[in-house]
Amino acid sequence: MHSWRRRLSDIFKLTLILWFYQLALSLRYQNYVDVDRALSPYAESFIAEARRHFCPVELRDIIVQVAHLESDGDGFLVIGLCEVTGTFRRVSVDPVYWKFATEDERLGLMYHELGHCLLGRDHTEALLPDGRPASLMHPYLSDGWEKDRERYLNELFDSCAR
Ligand SMILES: [Zn+2]
Repeated sequence: MHSWRRRLSDIFKLTLILWFYQLALSLRYQNYVDVDRALSPYAESFIAEARRHFCPVELRDIIVQVAHLESDGDGFLVIGLCEVTGTFRRVSVDPVYWKFATEDERLGLMYHELGHCLLGRDHTEALLPDGRPASLMHPYLSDGWEKDRERYLNELFDSCAR
């Protein structure tokens, strides 16, 4: 027979167990880093550029992976994605896009997604006078950005360094 006292104590125990479970999960994922080996040089390049621009970000609490991505609602192919849950981040890049992309495009995509995931940046649709995107955070990737590398990197890390 369960008295209300007993039931209350059961609820308490269950709450305690759930709390410990959550604590264990958050400890388990703390400092968790899983960067795909093929993507690692591109992610490390972002970190090196961030440091050069006095932006103190790290590859921590993050997964960087190759994964098939769904098209978005408008039917556009999604080639990269940044997902944030609490303090945990996950960057995914599409394997087919990655395979055929130029180095310039790969870096641009990785910098864009880490711009979301590590710098907390949103998209900007601003354009330069010549019609090119003004930022690597433009929603549609353009190649050839590396010809104007310093300008794009200064723009990318500007809000972080301040
Ligand atoms: Zn984006």
